[in-house]
Amino acid sequence: MPELPEVETYVRELTPLLAGRRVGAAQVFWPRTIAAPDVATFQTQIIGQEFATFGRRGKYMLLGLASGATLIVHLRMTGHLQVEPASVTPDKHTHVMLDLDSGERLLFRDARKFGRIWLVDDSAPVLARLGPEPLSDDFSPGGLGALLAGRQAAIKALLLDQTIVAGVGNIYADEALFRAGIHPLRSGGGLTEVEVVRLYAAVCAVLADGIAAAGSSLGVSSIQNYQRPSGAPGSFQEQHRVFQRTGQPCLVCGAPIARIVVAQRSSHFCPHCQK
Ligand SMILES: [Zn+2]
Repeated sequence: MPELPEVETYVRELTPLLAGRRVGAAQVFWPRTIAAPDVATFQTQIIGQEFATFGRRGKYMLLGLASGATLIVHLRMTGHLQVEPASVTPDKHTHVMLDLDSGERLLFRDARKFGRIWLVDDSAPVLARLGPEPLSDDFSPGGLGALLAGRQAAIKALLLDQTIVAGVGNIYADEALFRAGIHPLRSGGGLTEVEVVRLYAAVCAVLADGIAAAGSSLGVSSIQNYQRPSGAPGSFQEQHRVFQRTGQPCLVCGAPIARIVVAQRSSHFCPHCQK
């Protein structure tokens, strides 16, 4: 599932492909992909729009249009955005297709169909519930401590909560907790001030490292897995210290990496290094 580093990679790599491009016809093959407005309005309003700015908030991609409107894309489990020549035939996973004035097309492909697209004048309501953006000044050790204070839930579950910190998902939560030396089942409110500072630093570091490696691509490259807009994989999976390394030796102490389920998600950790 694409998390902050994967979405950031999309934004960076789509920028040169889409900047200044104008949209012609839009086809929507799976109406539920369009969260807002209704499909007919979307198809009318997107025509003639020009891609102007490229940003991200948490796991949401923000494609700003010259009109002032924003095309917001959330890839959810298996969404992909690709720019392809118009001669490429859309496959059964292509749910939205925008013609571009370059003679290419922007395809939204999504095997699991959980991904969503919004065309809005004001993006604030869609993004309203998101917590601080981790690689910005809005995220701080003190702020993280305040959000965790009094929370009984497991810190792993709280890191997945987009109102605590925007953009962190299962991979980067596991990797951050390992780097911080914190057991995933510790209660969020029970962390010491020193641990909160370590966790803050680990979240920032793991996300920055993930972006530098163009994200994590797991398993064989396919429509089910994260790929960059070019179809190339990211490489951060080569730096995972715990995620999906169940039974393999901890890179620090040699103990086998364990797997438990927290908040219905697999959690990978070192029982020796993470207290
Ligand atoms: Zn260890």
